Order: sequence, then structure tokens, then C-alpha cells
Amino acid sequence: MSQLLYEGKAKKMFTTDEPNVLRVVYKNDATAFNGQKKAQFEGKGRLNNAICTKIFKMLQEKGIPTHYIDTISDTEQLVKAVSIVPIEVVVRNVVAGSLSKRLGVDEGETLSRTIVEFYYKSDELGDPMINSDHALAMDIATKEELKEIRRLALSINESLQAFFAEANILLVDFKIEFGKLKETGAIVLADEISPDSCRLWDKETHEKLDKDVFRRNIADLPETYEKLLKRLEDVK
Ligand code: UDP
Repeated sequence: MSQLLYEGKAKKMFTTDEPNVLRVVYKNDATAFNGQKKAQFEGKGRLNNAICTKIFKMLQEKGIPTHYIDTISDTEQLVKAVSIVPIEVVVRNVVAGSLSKRLGVDEGETLSRTIVEFYYKSDELGDPMINSDHALAMDIATKEELKEIRRLALSINESLQAFFAEANILLVDFKIEFGKLKETGAIVLADEISPDSCRLWDKETHEKLDKDVFRRNIADLPETYEKLLKRLEDVK
């Protein structure tokens, strides 16, 4: 028996016969600006599944704990069931997007150190930015969990930067989510890492290889994601 547990903007989650295992289906939908801009792209689910699979396998080999178990079809993965920590963690190496607007700094400026930001996951509130004090005072996470989340986020950033550099790609910023394993409460990387949730620029030309091509009407989304996947093909 397989029941739909949750449907998000880009993925569906189903139960499996194993109580602690879920099946993720990557959809062809793309959304931006908190769901205000929507479109469907043939092949997007397959491309994000392939890209995310490659990244999660690489991170696991580097010792990062993730929810990933296996990829079972073009658009499907098996993952461990977790309870999601309701914080979107954004890691930034180069100024772009909302940081550029908020602080009035040009996109493309390299930061002198990496920034980790927390956003409270709430569609109603539009994911407001919070700091550790908010997270603690509102019982969103414990001090130990926040410390582990920050440590893992920085470690994931190091591994991702090195991985994308092999393909001559600059990791500008990305969003990740963490979950707590049902059995142990251990913090693991969950959700996805894909061009939907990262900013990836060609190192030389700064050509965008991520969802900004859709957000800003720059180029065809599936063509862009296909180009990215091709460039990652030879990266170990
Ligand atoms: N991001 C995401 N989901 C969100 C918000 C941001 O995946 O709901 C990613 C986005 O793709 C980028 C990074 O997080 O790689 C930082 O996004 P930013 O805060 O600059 O927001 P944006 O300009 O995308 O609104």
C-alpha cells in the first residue's frame, strides 16, 4: 500500500511498506516567488532527480548524513522518514538574490566569509528570516540541534563547492533542509539539493545554470538543467 503523505511544490511523498521509508516523486512543476509564478516543464522531474541523486551520493561518500536511500526510477527516490526541522537554511558564498536587495550590494560580489541564514518554514508568513534566538525561544530547535545544523551546513558547502568547481561552476548560494530520524532523532540532510534550490554560475561567464533562468525569464529551464547535468556527468 502506498499513500500520498504530502504534496509540495516540486515533489510528492508517498508511504511504502516499510514504516521508516518514504518514496519521493519529483514533479515537472516549477514555482517561484512563493508560488506566485508557476509553470510545468517536461523532463524537469527527471533532471532534478538525476542531479539530486548525484549530489546526495557524493555527500554521503564524504560522510554527510542524509535521508537518501536509493533512486528507483527516472523520477523517484526512496528516502528515510524524518520529521523536518521547520527551518530553511541558506548558505551564501557570493552575493545574490534577496541578500543583494536587502543590503544593497551588487550581485556577484564575493563574500569575505560564508553566511548561514535561517528562515522559518511557513508558507502563510512567507518564510520570514529568523536567528538562533528566535529558533530557541520558539522551540523550533534545540541549541545542540542548531549547532549541528550549522556545522553540517558549512561542511556541505565545502563539499558542494569542490564538487561544482570540478565542472567549472561557482556555487553562489543554496537552500537546504534538515530532518530528525524517527528512530534516533539524529539530524540528517533531507529534502533536495538541485538547481531549484541552488544558484550555480559558470565560473568564467557567470551564465546561470539554475532556477533563476525561470524566475527571471532568462532561458529555457529544461535546456538549462540538461546542460548542468551534462557538465556534472564527468565529476566524481
Ligand atoms: N531558495 C530556495 N527556496 C526558497 C528560497 C530560496 O530554494 O524558498 C534558494 C534560492 O534558490 C537561492 C538561495 O536559496 O539559491 C537564496 O535565495 P534568496 O534568499 O536570495 O531568495 P530569492 O532571491 O531566491 O528570493
